[in-house]
Amino acid sequence: MLIETFTVGSLSTNCYIVSSQETKDAIVIDPGLDFSSEAKQVFDYIARGVLNVKLIVNTHGHPDHISGDAIFQKEYNVPICIHRFDAASLEGLENVNCPAAILLEDGSLIKFGNESLKVMHTPGHTPGSICLLGERLVFTGDTLFAGGIGRTDFPGGSDRDMRLSLQKLMRLPDYFLIYPGHGPSSMMGEEKRVNPFLTS
Ligand SMILES: [Zn+2]
Ligand SMILES: [Zn+2]
Repeated sequence: MLIETFTVGSLSTNCYIVSSQETKDAIVIDPGLDFSSEAKQVFDYIARGVLNVKLIVNTHGHPDHISGDAIFQKEYNVPICIHRFDAASLEGLENVNCPAAILLEDGSLIKFGNESLKVMHTPGHTPGSICLLGERLVFTGDTLFAGGIGRTDFPGGSDRDMRLSLQKLMRLPDYFLIYPGHGPSSMMGEEKRVNPFLTS
């Protein structure tokens, strides 16, 4: 599994291109860009690697994660995957083919080539926030950051749900790499040691 990170948009969202090294099949996680001009570097990377984009996956429905969905859907004509509790946020986007959306649930598998990521429903930041689990890594969206967690004071946020979701993440082994929706990557063991929201 090959992972490339592009930091996009005015809120510096991490957009990840995750691909199978063998089959070249790929997914786009959170294309939260503001302008189509920002997409060029990502399109170039995909073209250089001769990658086949199969899916767009949103870790949740906030604008800074879904704002480029239409641009990527236009380029690659692929479905958008989002947890069903956040799916309504796609309806506000122009030029997005909503009927093509794949609604995710806890345990859903996102397959591309011979790779797969498992959906872990982690509400709290939004009702439909998800993490995507690989064998040794996890994409955490705005649920868990290096040294922090996502806000719970937006509409649909819940402190209680966030606590339960963080408890689920805490069960992952220390060697798990963390790829968050904003900021640098980290490791689960490091977060268990230093992240004040996991240590208290
Ligand atoms: Zn968010
Ligand atoms: Zn965000």
